[in-house]
Amino acid sequence: VLDVRGVGKSFDGVRALSDVSLQVRQGEVVAIIGPSGSGKSTLLRTINHLQPPTEGFVTVHGELIGLRRGRNALHRLSENEIRRQRSRIGFVFQAFNLFPHLTALENVAEAPVSARGVEKDAARRAAEEFLGRVGLSDRLDAYPRQLSGGQQQRVAIARALALDPELILFDEPTSALDPELVDEVLAVIGDLARAGRTLVIVTHEIAFARRVADRIVFMDAGRNVEEGPPSQVLGHPREARTRAFLDRVL
Ligand code: ATP
Ligand code: MG
Repeated sequence: VLDVRGVGKSFDGVRALSDVSLQVRQGEVVAIIGPSGSGKSTLLRTINHLQPPTEGFVTVHGELIGLRRGRNALHRLSENEIRRQRSRIGFVFQAFNLFPHLTALENVAEAPVSARGVEKDAARRAAEEFLGRVGLSDRLDAYPRQLSGGQQQRVAIARALALDPELILFDEPTSALDPELVDEVLAVIGDLARAGRTLVIVTHEIAFARRVADRIVFMDAGRNVEEGPPSQVLGHPREARTRAFLDRVL
């Protein structure tokens, strides 16, 4: 589904990513771990072209993201085209990013109406269904400020699902939550994993990553340092840097 090839990213002088490659198959769950500043968020943001890579490229189902092949160069797609591509890639942020003036139901129904032209009543019915799946059938008409952090994050997940994405990216979905709210959000993500969704999850929850991920990627200093099944990367890391990180966090 996802193919990241040789992606690099510089912010005037700061090297955030260097030659990162990552392939994710349909239904696979990949967890990305690594120290602060290692480029995890930047990698997710290059995948959906929120921050276009300075080198390399990203394809989803073989379609280049943000770029179009010209006769002898790559050209940037129009903002409209990029928005259309982005709507196929779900993105769940650390800080929920819900519309404060819309109810839970309206937050979930908004994008299908505005980005896909789904009819309003149909979008609302679908939104009810998605909110049910994340356990919020009884809070459809609540505004974000009336919801706990865990509930807001579950609305954000329902909102991502509403566009039926081919791939969902999570950037530390539980790190803004009070500890007692973390498990309800991880449970919802675990359900998606079991339902066969293709997920890429940046997380500090190592125990969760071990449980749900098919593969763990350890990043450090903008590089994909090593990747493999949880038992290998977490249990028998090959690289000294991975070992040092795990010793710190476990
Ligand atoms: P954390 O675990 O703290 O979220 P991270 O692994 O997500 O860290 P990134 O946010 O991807 O790390 O940052 C990687 C590097 O890129 C850091 O050195 C950061 O300072 C730099 N960086 C990220 N975004 C920008 C930006 N918009 N402008 C300049 N530098 C940036
Ligand atoms: Mg980050």
